[in-house]
Amino acid sequence: MSYVDEVIERIERENPSEPEFHQAVREVLNSLRPVVDANEESYRRDALLERLVNPERQIKFRVPWIDDKGQVHVNTGYRVQFSSAIGPYKGGLRLHPSVNLGIIKFLGFEQIFKNSLTGLPIGGGKGGSDFDPKGKSDREVMSFCQSFMSELCKYIGSDTDIPAGDIGTGAREIGYLFGEYKKLRGLFTGVLTGKGLSFGGSLARTEATGYGLLYITEEMLKDHGQDIAGKTVTVSGSGNVAIYAIEKARQLGAKVVTCSDSTGWVYDPDGIDVAALKEIKEKNRQRLTEYKKYRPQSEYHEGRGVWTVPCEIALPCATQNELTLEDAKTLAANGVIAVAEGANMPTTAEATAYLQAQGILFLPGKASNAGGVATSALEMSQNSERLHWSFEQVDAQLKDIMIDLYHHIDDAAKRYGKDGNYVDGANIAGFEKVVDAMISQGIV
Ligand code: NDP
Repeated sequence: MSYVDEVIERIERENPSEPEFHQAVREVLNSLRPVVDANEESYRRDALLERLVNPERQIKFRVPWIDDKGQVHVNTGYRVQFSSAIGPYKGGLRLHPSVNLGIIKFLGFEQIFKNSLTGLPIGGGKGGSDFDPKGKSDREVMSFCQSFMSELCKYIGSDTDIPAGDIGTGAREIGYLFGEYKKLRGLFTGVLTGKGLSFGGSLARTEATGYGLLYITEEMLKDHGQDIAGKTVTVSGSGNVAIYAIEKARQLGAKVVTCSDSTGWVYDPDGIDVAALKEIKEKNRQRLTEYKKYRPQSEYHEGRGVWTVPCEIALPCATQNELTLEDAKTLAANGVIAVAEGANMPTTAEATAYLQAQGILFLPGKASNAGGVATSALEMSQNSERLHWSFEQVDAQLKDIMIDLYHHIDDAAKRYGKDGNYVDGANIAGFEKVVDAMISQGIV
């Protein structure tokens, strides 16, 4: 059995009931086969892959909090500090009822390569809780965040581990978490990113993941002789990533005709109205059923369905495994030319393989949504130098990072004879930097 297969088999055996983590490890290690095969003896001796796929540290804790009626609830908190090979752990906090250790490990593992691809000195980590902020009052969310931070604060710091937002963790949650950290530790440092602008946040961080997704998609299309202007785009999700992906796509001259949330989806033939979407989701925290009140010509459908709408570019921006093989077949039959992941692992392994086999351009999330964490690292730089950069300065750096990132993964794919396979290109390019640091630092 090859070294890669041995490690995959061992991960599946030793981490039962963690299918998302298995999926992420399989995908990355399969891409790395040519690199591992060329170095099998030394990697095996140093147990390099075992060290890569096992987190440095996993923290799991109890989070008791009190609702508005005085009832106490207990949720579970997680922080997985996966790899500090190239910098302090960096990755978001997901607050969603579906959260469990396996999901946090999958996200933390992916984060290692994503962070490496940004070219910035940040390691990989991820955290979160099965707490659901939806439908909770601000007081209840604050009670949860304070309790969560009272434990998490023991393990994080501006030079050790710097959490950020993710699903369910937006500006409000980051604010409460930061306030509690400051109170408990007596430190005003850049320990979290995605902070409010009045207390150390970076301009353009809110927009960064969605904008970055469009910058890299535009560069890929350009490289293949295509222009994003005039294209029809479908987007899933209506959260932070989706909203700013839609905004930038429109700015670049594309027409975005869909968005969705966990209960339904919208088709707007004239193009999604971003101002209406922001008001519904960011300001009023409502469901997408409200969208029709702003745009009577639009359609609202219960359930899933975004990928049935004909488009040239598809941008899944909601959650993992939301674009299935069946969806991929429908997209291909409808003439899609490119799929770029805004969310983390939104495309199933079978769907990814199908799209690639059809010659459809495919950008994996660890490359295409790296703009968020890259801008978080720029927030860390601003916090360290106690300065504030302009929106234009941050946005220009973000654009440069995404363009460089595209050429970096394109080059890695070409070097290993996988021209146009950006999944393999991203995994190999991300791994090369991490493995070099791991070897240089010895067996730790
Ligand atoms: P938000 O919480 O702002 O939005 C998530 C969106 O996805 C919402 O529209 C939500 O609908 C929908 N959604 C969540 N879970 C499900 C589900 N199980 N089924 C269907 N729809 C669902 O999160 P973000 O926009 O920040 O994150 C979206 C994705 O992007 C995640 O995979 C995240 O890990 C990834 N990402 C985010 C980054 C960031 O900077 N924010 C950076 C890099 C990656 P509803 O409101 O109904 O729950």
